[in-house]
Amino acid sequence: MVVGYLVKSKGFVEQMGKVSAGVKCSVTGCNEHAVKSVSLNRARSAGLEVPEGRRAYLCKVHYKELKKRLKKERVIEKWRHTV
Ligand SMILES: [Zn+2]
Repeated sequence: MVVGYLVKSKGFVEQMGKVSAGVKCSVTGCNEHAVKSVSLNRARSAGLEVPEGRRAYLCKVHYKELKKRLKKERVIEKWRHTV
């Protein structure tokens, strides 16, 4: 009885998350809802750990991270060229 209740409630929670968000973040170890999708190369060049596939789906946090890292990379590249 107790087990049945736990399974049922867990299934409910999981279903809610999946249905409302559609896709989950592709980053390894992250289970947040994806809000943006980017090309795999873009995610990889930002240093995000994403599995093979056509696109990488990112949650809010990882999308921010991606933007931040890509910006940083560009700055470093610029810097390298000057030196
Ligand atoms: Zn994420």
